[in-house]
Amino acid sequence: MIHVKHRGRLPRDSRETRKASMTDFAVIVVGGGHAGCEAAAASARLGVPTALITHKVATIGEMSCNPAIGGLGKGHLVREIDALDGVMGRVADKAGIQFRVLNRRKGPAVRGPRAQADRKLYRAAMQAELAASPNLTVIEGEVDDLTVDGGIVTGVRLLDGRFFGTRAVVLTTGTFLRGLIHRGEETIPAGRVGERPVLGLSLRLEALGLSLGRLKTGTPPRLDGKSIDFSRLVAQEGDNPPEPFSVMTDAITQPQIQCFETRTTAEAHRIIEANLGRSAMYSGRIQSRGPRYCPSIEDKIVRFADKDSHLVFLEPEGLDDDTIYPNGLSTSLPEDVQYQFLTAMPGLENVRILRPGYAIEYDHVDPRELDHRLGLRRLDGLFLAGQINGTTGYEEAAAQGLLAGANAALAAQGHEPLVLSRTESYLGVMVDDLVSRGVTEPYRMFTSRAEFRLHLRSDNADQRLTDTAIAVGLVGEARADRHRAKMAKLKAGKDKLRSLTATPTEARAAGLNVNADGIRRSAYELLSYPAMTLEVLESLWPEVGEIDVKTAQQLEIDAQYAVYLERQREDVEAVRRDEGRAIPDWMDYDALPGLSSEMRQKLKQFQPLTIAQAQRIEGMTPAAVTLILAVIKRGSLVRKAV
Ligand code: FAD
Repeated sequence: MIHVKHRGRLPRDSRETRKASMTDFAVIVVGGGHAGCEAAAASARLGVPTALITHKVATIGEMSCNPAIGGLGKGHLVREIDALDGVMGRVADKAGIQFRVLNRRKGPAVRGPRAQADRKLYRAAMQAELAASPNLTVIEGEVDDLTVDGGIVTGVRLLDGRFFGTRAVVLTTGTFLRGLIHRGEETIPAGRVGERPVLGLSLRLEALGLSLGRLKTGTPPRLDGKSIDFSRLVAQEGDNPPEPFSVMTDAITQPQIQCFETRTTAEAHRIIEANLGRSAMYSGRIQSRGPRYCPSIEDKIVRFADKDSHLVFLEPEGLDDDTIYPNGLSTSLPEDVQYQFLTAMPGLENVRILRPGYAIEYDHVDPRELDHRLGLRRLDGLFLAGQINGTTGYEEAAAQGLLAGANAALAAQGHEPLVLSRTESYLGVMVDDLVSRGVTEPYRMFTSRAEFRLHLRSDNADQRLTDTAIAVGLVGEARADRHRAKMAKLKAGKDKLRSLTATPTEARAAGLNVNADGIRRSAYELLSYPAMTLEVLESLWPEVGEIDVKTAQQLEIDAQYAVYLERQREDVEAVRRDEGRAIPDWMDYDALPGLSSEMRQKLKQFQPLTIAQAQRIEGMTPAAVTLILAVIKRGSLVRKAV
């Protein structure tokens, strides 16, 4: 990596000698956040000269909000990024200080790997990853404008006057486009706290005729851990041993820490309610929509008025850092009110606020302007990824960044694009949702958004995606070798299990609970039975014990899900066949059991006339559509007695 630093404006003549037709880099990525890092790394992996232009090299890999990577749905995306040889998983493994697989008691399809990260270690590991990328130049500066010639993007112009010519640009500007911070009665133009907003690019995007919208998000106050009484709080341990995100990580080496739990109290709720008029959001000054699934504490108290307490996780921001991130307390109330409600919570009676919480409003581009490459439909050479597309979250941003960066590099080389489908990845689901349905609120990933979620598991992301990534040229040698070795072991294990067969009598003699139906079954079929493991099958076939532990674990999951995949495919097919079906007048969404309140509200608001229209409603889940179709086919809301 070459690092080019420039302070101040260039002399006028040197600016004018740069011609828009010159190509300095095949691809230029604007913004060194989560989307930008993946975009730059992916483009560089594809072997094209790439520049990453960002405000400050020191903030590359900054976690603007919570110090954590992964979680439900998001952990799946991190595994997919890793399967495409992206950097987020490996970086999180280097910086992770508490690893937990969420939903561990549920099936593998909905388990979400999550790691809390040391902020400084995360930034340092990300910067080291990029520094080690061949073909990548990092440039410090602000991109103020794009140059366009004959409907094609030709370069970027910086605020200091420098110009760089290129064949493709990836914009990953996060919350910076006309960013406006709100806290109580205060408003401050900023991209993040202490950082200037970006104005020029918004004007250029508007001038290009793109449709822009406003969204908002918020962050909680940061607390001084030295002022918290942890002895009164419940500690939360991570998993032991911690499970890495990346197939390239053999072991987690950072020391692992505890988090703590506290709760909001009736007094804290009373203080918040009494001051709602001073919240930037409730005073009506913020018109834009925030993330439904990451609501502010004001929002939670109004929306869930029947709840007298909300859980708050107190998460250390680093190994040598006393800063605590109170997860669940995002707010735009004034600082004095933040202090009042915090001190009404157990353990926080004497708390000191290091930095108050705030909300931020920013411009985003309507993602329906994009195609499935994340390139603009009506302007060649311009790709967008991350928060600028109306999403929220580091993982959503990083996954889009990888795809956009890869496609920018492929376009610059004149190669076929990389497009991922809904059936093979959450990344494919997210991109399809964005470009076909758009957003009215910040989009975040959930497993319920996928039709094929039994197939799209976090444990098999590499099986689903790495071969495609190798074919495109996105994967380095080390991973490709490791992947081929793993796939060979899985194939050999599966072949062996399929070749071993037993009659019900033989299986029962070995203590296996099998129907006495005379059907000979393979070891692989038997493995799909509930609670069946390879260890149990060893009693019948001792050679099964030769399969190594990791391969055995994967085969067990694959076999258990294999039986459901066909049923899932049939369900999806049935919906596809019946897309044209009319939704009858008698359909009463209030009387439909099993429909979430969010789905009910959207269906009542949009009143779709057909199944296809219901499917196109933003945020509509495949499960909700399947339910409506089942009720239409039954012909009544009332389940008939059998
Ligand atoms: P960012 O991570 O914001 O990175 C953008 C980068 O681009 C920055 O480095 C910036 O310096 C650079 N840049 C911008 N414009 C230019 C330019 N013109 N020239 C050069 N460099 C430029 N997500 C959640 O999931 N939950 C939350 O609760 C949550 N809360 C948030 C609260 C706040 C206050 C903020 C700011 C973000 C929050 N997020 C939250 C969102 C999360 O931080 C983003 O989704 C994620 O970081 C987006 O990644 P990105 O790469 O698109 O942008």
